[in-house]
Amino acid sequence: MASPVAHSLAGLSILALCFPRHIRSLTALATALFAACLPDLDLLIPGIAHRTVMHSVTFSLVLPTILFVWLKLNNNRQYLVITCLCFCGIISHIIIDWLSMDLSEPAGLIIGWPWNMDSQISDKPLFLNLHRNQFFEPAIIAHNTRALLRESIIMLPATLLILFYRRSYFSRV
Ligand SMILES: [Zn+2]
Repeated sequence: MASPVAHSLAGLSILALCFPRHIRSLTALATALFAACLPDLDLLIPGIAHRTVMHSVTFSLVLPTILFVWLKLNNNRQYLVITCLCFCGIISHIIIDWLSMDLSEPAGLIIGWPWNMDSQISDKPLFLNLHRNQFFEPAIIAHNTRALLRESIIMLPATLLILFYRRSYFSRV
């Protein structure tokens, strides 16, 4: 799986690309970053296997729908922005994880949960896997550093390009 670095940069890119006028909104920024990393909270939730329920298209549709209804009922003016950021953030997370190397068995994500329980993963991973065990072993540190560098090299130029491209909107806020 990719790290929060790749996911956060994707969230920031989505915010800048889709809602440049909200880039200075703390709520929008927090939502974009949180939603892009949200599926990996399944590592902390007992009873939910990693890369299953919270890495599915169903989750990406159900959670934003609930959020939309709740925000609308509470007359939140940013209900559309927050809902879209939530949906796009979760989808970006699924895509990045799908493009990540996975050495676990079975490898991949249950994107089609609960209708299709097959694990899915790209044949040509773009991102390296992160080791979460033996975190302080020199070989693990070297591998995780390589993985983070690779994510940054791939994601950072794209994010900076989007921010640069959208900069005229930021100054109008
Ligand atoms: Zn994930």
